Amino acid sequence: ADKTLNQIRTTFLDYFEKNDHRVVESSNLVPNNDPTLMFANSGMVQFKNVFTGLEKRDYVRATTSQKCVRAGGKHNDLENVGYTPRHHTFFEMLGNFSFGDYFKEEAISYAWNLITKEFGIDKNRLYVTVYHDDEEAFNFWKKIAGFSDDRIIKVATSDNFWSMGDTGPCGPCSEIFYDHGEHLEGGLPGTKNEDGNRFIEIWNLVFMQYEQISKDKRIDLPKPSVDTGMGLERIAALLQGTHDNYETDHFKKLIQSVSDSLNVKVNKTNQSSFRVIADHLRASSFLLAEGVLPSNEGRGYVLRRIMRRGMRHSHLLGSKKPVFYNIFKTLLEEMSNNYPELERAQSLIKETLKTEEEKFLVLLDRGIKILNEELEKVEKILPGEVAFKLYDTFGFPLDLTEDILKNKSLRVDGEKFDLLMKESKELAKQNWKGSGDSTIDQIWFDIKDRLGATDFLGYSTDKAEGVV
Ligand code: ATP
Ligand code: MG
Ligand code: MG
Ligand code: MG
Repeated sequence: ADKTLNQIRTTFLDYFEKNDHRVVESSNLVPNNDPTLMFANSGMVQFKNVFTGLEKRDYVRATTSQKCVRAGGKHNDLENVGYTPRHHTFFEMLGNFSFGDYFKEEAISYAWNLITKEFGIDKNRLYVTVYHDDEEAFNFWKKIAGFSDDRIIKVATSDNFWSMGDTGPCGPCSEIFYDHGEHLEGGLPGTKNEDGNRFIEIWNLVFMQYEQISKDKRIDLPKPSVDTGMGLERIAALLQGTHDNYETDHFKKLIQSVSDSLNVKVNKTNQSSFRVIADHLRASSFLLAEGVLPSNEGRGYVLRRIMRRGMRHSHLLGSKKPVFYNIFKTLLEEMSNNYPELERAQSLIKETLKTEEEKFLVLLDRGIKILNEELEKVEKILPGEVAFKLYDTFGFPLDLTEDILKNKSLRVDGEKFDLLMKESKELAKQNWKGSGDSTIDQIWFDIKDRLGATDFLGYSTDKAEGVV
């Protein structure tokens, strides 16, 4: 029988443990060492200071399965969810790390042995990319995998060059792709339709060998490091004989649970809604488990956007009452062994999902009615004023409105929306005469933001989602 998602995670960690790596727990999604980062979006985040040398650990090799969220910020896959078979907002990134210990040759060799021996993946379906001037990586792939030159694709774009920021450690990377078969559309990296479904990236190996000192000064790191990332859901799909993450054991269970809760069967036309719900339930639950609450600012706002996008899809499937808190039970069964925080926070998670969905369903009904009326008047572009009203009065995040318009080949005047948003924030600050003490004012605004999250009386007041 195929390995389950949970078993594949274990196989990965065991393999690197056997090869002298310390198994380290995933860090939180809310980074504790980086206020500029919204959420952990890769395995290396918790090791940033180890790579730069600021922090020392008692090991030089590590392996993790890291919780990641890519919704907002530099990596934003929110709009992909429901439309590509390989993207999630929340996913787990499997990784192995060398802190100044082994480098390119061993990294390639570990990866190759894992996927071809341990996982038994057919070598003839694999392709790799290297950064165009990285002859070393090119030659190691030839030697270790026995690849002919045409299987090692040289890429000159930033896709194959990783950097931590404008300065700091950086270096070339090498990505491993799997050919899921001719029946699917899509080309190899660097060719037409490279984002299709046929060739899917499974693993990224980053070779940190330089340090960027300033804009035009780069030096060699005395002890180069390795950082790798493989999507657990993607490798699970591959090992279960599909290119589609949503066809894995784990997602099938979640989608079945959505179907049971809503009493609606999955078909070709409605399937993306089921996928969005399953995905967004995972992201919402893991964020709530860490104490992030839906609000109008920052991390809480990203969470609210994810929740509302998901809840709109359950509404689309005909739901008149909250379902997310119900589907959460299935997630708990699936993942609480590995992530006990889900169990610890379960009452908070269920309560928040339930109340947020109850409130939003009411707003949605009203907002969608207004939107449909407006849509009769427009040809191609929905005026920014309408999108802003939906946001301000009915709690529709902009991307929710965009998602609704997507199927109708319409778009929003986003510039106007942004302008109105800015004006409204300024107005709110002006209206608040202030105490004359800017710290107290800031606290007041912060409290208002937080109250917006919990004390949200959408149907009894005119302003459902006050902007401050
Ligand atoms: P893609 O090009 O497919 O969007 P990426 O190059 O952005 O992937 P990396 O930043 O290299 O991804 O992350 C390392 C690995 O994490 C990827 O090779 C992939 O297996 C996985 N991964 C990245 N983004 C996602 C996502 N949104 N959902 C699921 N897995 C992902
Ligand atoms: Mg990406
Ligand atoms: Mg990529
Ligand atoms: Mg990549």
